[in-house]
Amino acid sequence: MRLLLIEDDPDLSRQMKLVLESDGYAVDTAADGEDGHFLGEAENYDAIVLDLGLPLMDGLSVLSRWRKQGIATPVLILTARDGWSEKVAGLDAGADDYVTKPFKIEEVLARVRALIRRAAGQASPDLSCGPVTLNTNSGKVTVDGLSVHLTAQEYKLLAYLMHHPEKIISRTELTEHLYDQDFDRDSNTIEVFVTRIRKKLGVQIINTIRGLGYQLVDISQQTTE
Ligand code: CA
Repeated sequence: MRLLLIEDDPDLSRQMKLVLESDGYAVDTAADGEDGHFLGEAENYDAIVLDLGLPLMDGLSVLSRWRKQGIATPVLILTARDGWSEKVAGLDAGADDYVTKPFKIEEVLARVRALIRRAAGQASPDLSCGPVTLNTNSGKVTVDGLSVHLTAQEYKLLAYLMHHPEKIISRTELTEHLYDQDFDRDSNTIEVFVTRIRKKLGVQIINTIRGLGYQLVDISQQTTE
């Protein structure tokens, strides 16, 4: 999952990026409203964390512009303490949720997880496909109840597929959502990860759709003729 973090406080931004990355997200950052607005428009993010007090263009204007442009990416706003009117204005402008400063980073993490889940139409943190279950809170993956160890990259890839079951997902889409903008993207590595995940899971839930990409399918739902 790939996030955009728009925060002008350099220390806070650096700290949040580190924690979000250690939680498995690819994170792009912007330090002002103009740069942030541009990235949100140009790139594909799974969620955006947006501070409201920003130089060049304030957070509310950034958000209103995206929504007018039809950009529907889930947005979590960071609001000032006691800023109830800011929260109302933010939600009315199209924010999906808010966290009040100062906050515990765990709260931001939990809210981002929930936003991404809901945007994918998943109400529960346990995402399942056939015998495979992935818990988005703990990052645990099990097959028939037995845990399977995946590397951070393998987990990211499987989590993206599990959030979008049955959708055909191209390698380009996967690279866009798994790596930040500074990463040297090579879509061949995706194939390598898929092969490793299949081996580790031991069950066939990732179909290769020739020339198009991958599709997560629940094998128990496949009818046999
Ligand atoms: Ca600020």
